[in-house]
Amino acid sequence: MMIDRDMRKRLIVAVANRVIANAEELTDLDRAIGDGDHGTNMRRGFEAVLAAADELSDKSFGESLKGVGTTLVMKVGGASGPLYGTLFLSLGKSLADDVNREQIAEAFAAAIEAVKARGKSDVGHKTMLDVFHPVLAVLRGGGEELPAKLKATARLAAENTIRMKAIRGRASFLGERSIGHMDPGARSSELIVDAVADVMEGSA
Ligand code: ADP
Ligand code: MG
Repeated sequence: MMIDRDMRKRLIVAVANRVIANAEELTDLDRAIGDGDHGTNMRRGFEAVLAAADELSDKSFGESLKGVGTTLVMKVGGASGPLYGTLFLSLGKSLADDVNREQIAEAFAAAIEAVKARGKSDVGHKTMLDVFHPVLAVLRGGGEELPAKLKATARLAAENTIRMKAIRGRASFLGERSIGHMDPGARSSELIVDAVADVMEGSA
């Protein structure tokens, strides 16, 4: 499939607007097991992405993803800024404008490995990785109704972090007390996956 300028712009705008619209919820989640800034951090980053949407969409898909990554590194801050930045920078390194599902899945796999290396973290640590990982498995599997499957998987994966004990990030300082709350970064990752899936379905 071709990720042309129109598609690039729709993806950027949909993801940015989704994060911005849900910033308060992200902050509330982070208030429970962190320092209550995840929504503010993400809103600041994605407002900058939204402001640059036209300029970013003018670039190739790879360069536009790198531009999103650089903006997030500069604007989000906290632990999540460099981690989301790493994710988008890595995706931008391997994706061309003409891509198929397998190539997107492999680029996502490499990006997840880059986040793990940067965060010294892994699946099961109650972070954004606990959403990325199951989403990757569904993306690799492909098949009918892929966007709907991606959304359902991301939602369930974010919900699954409620029962996990945090091993990485600020929430890990709480130990057992981190159990019973959804990880804010898992929820922001779900929002991003959901927005991308909406664009794939043509409903955004
Ligand atoms: P901070 O924790 O510095 O206040 P944020 O509140 O913006 O940063 O982001 C917190 C989120 O970042 C967590 O909910 C978690 O999903 C993610 N996170 C934190 N540390 C790591 C890590 N080492 N690896 C992966 N994700 C992480
Ligand atoms: Mg925080």
